[in-house]
Amino acid sequence: MTCIFCQIAVRRLPADILYEDDDLIVFKEVNPEAPIHLLIVSRVHIDTLNSLDEQSVGLMAKMVLVAKRIAEDLKTQSGYRLVINCGREAGQVVLHLHMHFMGGWRKK
Ligand code: 5GP
Ligand code: ZN
Repeated sequence: MTCIFCQIAVRRLPADILYEDDDLIVFKEVNPEAPIHLLIVSRVHIDTLNSLDEQSVGLMAKMVLVAKRIAEDLKTQSGYRLVINCGREAGQVVLHLHMHFMGGWRKK
């Protein structure tokens, strides 16, 4: 298993995990670009958004819902940004589907 996020998901590599369930795992970005910068990561290995299909698209809804709940829990509802980079050209470095959660500039 060479994928970094797959290894984090099975706890073979360390991460500062804030949340996990059967489908997703959420941990702190190692190189944050916002006061709160988290990665919402699918448990199953899907390389990019381009590989989503009818069966896996539900993951996206779950990612957004988890992001909303995190914003509530961390009291950052006043502003947060969700970003998915798709492909190298867009800056995707880790080829395992994930959403960036950025916020915390001004906590409510
Ligand atoms: P991408 O550019 O692929 O959308 O985002 C991948 C992100 O994962 C990068 O911002 C990078 O800093 C982060 N990252 C890479 N390796 C690790 C790691 O081992 N642990 C954590 N927490 N983040 C990582
Ligand atoms: Zn993976």
